[in-house]
Amino acid sequence: MTRGRSGLMATLALMLSIDFSAHASDDVPEVHVEIIDYSSAGWTLLAARAEVKKIYESAGIRLLITTASNSVRTLPNAVQVVVLSGRASGRMRIDRVPPGVLGYSVFEARRVYVFYDRVGNEAARPNGRVVALGRVIAHELGHLLSGRSGHSVDGLMQAKLDLHSRFSPPLLAEQAQLIRDRLLEARRLAR
Ligand SMILES: [Zn+2]
Repeated sequence: MTRGRSGLMATLALMLSIDFSAHASDDVPEVHVEIIDYSSAGWTLLAARAEVKKIYESAGIRLLITTASNSVRTLPNAVQVVVLSGRASGRMRIDRVPPGVLGYSVFEARRVYVFYDRVGNEAARPNGRVVALGRVIAHELGHLLSGRSGHSVDGLMQAKLDLHSRFSPPLLAEQAQLIRDRLLEARRLAR
């Protein structure tokens, strides 16, 4: 048994792992998300942010979410989530949006819209509404951040997303990678 040597090895390994983890966290891309609330969601929307963050955190993407009272961007590269209900939905011509569509994304404007009344109809219980709203926001952000309007057969980007499943629907590995690459590239270009 070579106690001293194995002790040294352990220390080296520990130092290396600390070093690696420090680098890894530098590579976690961040996105600023401004939520603009034109809805009656209230605390439901505040609570829904945790579901959105959780889904992206498990994909290695950090969301920095703030709430704004109007659509003037405070940060030029922020993405915006506009949550609408009642009259505000009417102003966005919800009558022209096919039934069952809970939200949509506008790539050029870097903005997504979510119809809270419709999300609320999908989930009867208040807790269910929090999770459902979070997942709809996460799904629309998935389109915006990946630059893709298509859907996958599984995970967060399904066309018919499960708003009630026990576990949060994840971004698939290639979707997460695409979003991380795009964000890191944007960060590199901004420097
Ligand atoms: Zn979609």
